[in-house]
Amino acid sequence: MNSTFSLPTSVIFGCDVITENAALFSNYGRRALIVTGKNSAKLSGALDLVTAALASQQIAWDIFDEIAVNPTIESVRAGGERAREVEADFVIGIGGGSPLDAAKAIALLALNDLPGEELFGGNYESVLPIIAIPLTSGTGSEVTPYSILTDNSLGNKRNLAHPLLFPAVALLEPALTASLSREQTIYTALDAFSHAFEGLLSNKASLLSDALAYESIALIGQCREALGGSSYDYELREKLAYASMLAGMVIAHTGTTGIHAMGYGLTYHKSIDHGRANALLMTPFLRFLEAGNSAKIGRALGAFGVDSLDALESTIATLLDERLSLTDDEIELFADNAAKAGNIVNSTPHPDRARIVELYREACGR
Ligand code: NAP
Ligand code: FE
Repeated sequence: MNSTFSLPTSVIFGCDVITENAALFSNYGRRALIVTGKNSAKLSGALDLVTAALASQQIAWDIFDEIAVNPTIESVRAGGERAREVEADFVIGIGGGSPLDAAKAIALLALNDLPGEELFGGNYESVLPIIAIPLTSGTGSEVTPYSILTDNSLGNKRNLAHPLLFPAVALLEPALTASLSREQTIYTALDAFSHAFEGLLSNKASLLSDALAYESIALIGQCREALGGSSYDYELREKLAYASMLAGMVIAHTGTTGIHAMGYGLTYHKSIDHGRANALLMTPFLRFLEAGNSAKIGRALGAFGVDSLDALESTIATLLDERLSLTDDEIELFADNAAKAGNIVNSTPHPDRARIVELYREACGR
């Protein structure tokens, strides 16, 4: 058996980990740039906890809160400029996947001049240290080397991936996700579920990544019924945060597959939230893979607590309010982009453009 697994991120998970690990911030310098969105860091209480921890260590900070959902290349370039202006020694990302991904690109751009396509060229040797504090339980970005950026010149989302983009530290405090809406909690949980499932079926899966993926799926399965309710307790928040982190570790090694490749078009052109986009595409894609992957899919469904892809489909339909609806022109455009995405070839079999069109149609119930 051959297997490789390495994760350079120190993961600290639990109650009060920001306050209790305040001294850790001083390992990374005297001035921090906090990268976040407009509201979530304040609403969740995370910004107060982080600034109190920094103050206790006499670390100065600036706040760059210009990161919107699905961060653009322009916004991370502006953040990189800010990091240089304030001479930041390190970057703290606070938020869902959008601010965490942006923090990674900003840490890269702070130290490297990367005009145009050079941003994605991989020709860099250093980035500022990154501390990631997730406020959603979905992307696992706190433990991945990926920064998913919106490229308006291409009309799609694309993946900036490099081992240097792994955060140095991930501080996970599940209580900080309590302010997340029901809708976003469901969408992000389904993103994590999709990461674990796609990781299992990736051509790069290993025994170790599979072990993490099954565990992640089982934990999300334990939350399946409670997610359908109207309020969520700490135990559920904790399970989802942990499961999402495990699923992030999975995709850090396996990458994602066609579900994510096809989902980006829905997010870019239809403003469908990332996790929701994946969930809408999930069962058609899993049906496409089923014949060649029946043992893994069967075991994963069992871990989740359902006995068939039909049962998974109805669970997802119950959690999402409505089905996907796309015009033929939209399907053709999204299929063009998905067929070119790097991760579309990451499963066996993988769909060609014609099959991608069919999968979008199936997701629309056609
Ligand atoms: P998000 O886009 O970061 O945030 C969605 C919304 O939830 C925002 O309005 C945000 O507010 C709000 N929010 C976040 N946390 C909150 C909290 N605790 N309380 C209240 N509101 C909160 O959501 P996400 O699904 O976590 O991230 C999606 C992005 O991650 C996409 O760009 C996707 O492509 C990417 N992604 C990355 C990876 C990876 O490995 N790097 C993997 C999968 C997906 P604010 O705007 O105020 O922050
Ligand atoms: Fe995702």
